Amino acid sequence: MAALKLLQDTALSFLFMSLVFLPMEKVFPAKPGQKIFRPRWFMDFCFFLGQYLFWGGLVLWLLSDFGHWFRDLVPGEITSFFSGMPLWLQMIWVVALSDFLIYWGHRLQHSVGFLWRFHKVHHSTEHLDWLAAHREHPLDSIYTIGLINIPAFVLGFQLEALAGFVAFRGIWAIYIHSNVRLPIGAVRKLIGAPELHHWHHDKDRKAGNYANISPLMDILFGTYTCPDHEPESFGIDEKTPKTYFGQLIEPLLPGFISRRIWR
Ligand SMILES: [Zn+2]
Ligand SMILES: [Zn+2]
Repeated sequence: MAALKLLQDTALSFLFMSLVFLPMEKVFPAKPGQKIFRPRWFMDFCFFLGQYLFWGGLVLWLLSDFGHWFRDLVPGEITSFFSGMPLWLQMIWVVALSDFLIYWGHRLQHSVGFLWRFHKVHHSTEHLDWLAAHREHPLDSIYTIGLINIPAFVLGFQLEALAGFVAFRGIWAIYIHSNVRLPIGAVRKLIGAPELHHWHHDKDRKAGNYANISPLMDILFGTYTCPDHEPESFGIDEKTPKTYFGQLIEPLLPGFISRRIWR
């Protein structure tokens, strides 16, 4: 029964996101003429299925276990101080804390070889749309979701009460990958926009825009970039596997073996 419910939820999520994003990609395309079934669409669909049917639950289970373990180490005075704040104030704290952590955590993914090994799976896509957002190695997801949520949870913030915000954050992460460019002008400096993340997916690994909602941290730390056109091409200058399972396994293999198979 639980398996049937999971299948149903996955199908509904796919339908919901297709209905939200496909019309936007048609009416306000960042790259006009890009087809829905562009190259590697099926591989990204496998990433979508993998995330919903398998990895998502596993990652959440792992993180909540770790989270509770860490939380027990923090003195009660600290956790009750944060959990006693009004919800609106907790929200500001959580946004500031997670934006700061995700910014530096993401920047490290681009400069530390071991982290890039997993993060490059996400950057290997040569076509951006809402589905491409799901191309992410499960260990990369653990790193990112852990960084966003565990510190706030450990300090005592009531993340359950902020579940709406957490869900919004997830949808926004998909939106910034969509093939959409809205004429919102300077507002993008406040709330972020797909074009910023599209530049993050430029072939230059150090292109910038590491934040995933407000680009405030990029502006503060000098990595904000937003030319008025789309990047020429997306992707990375490394050969990567062309199948879902290849993409999952490749980062786990020693370099000399994966070079033999994929280069
Ligand atoms: Zn990145
Ligand atoms: Zn991305």
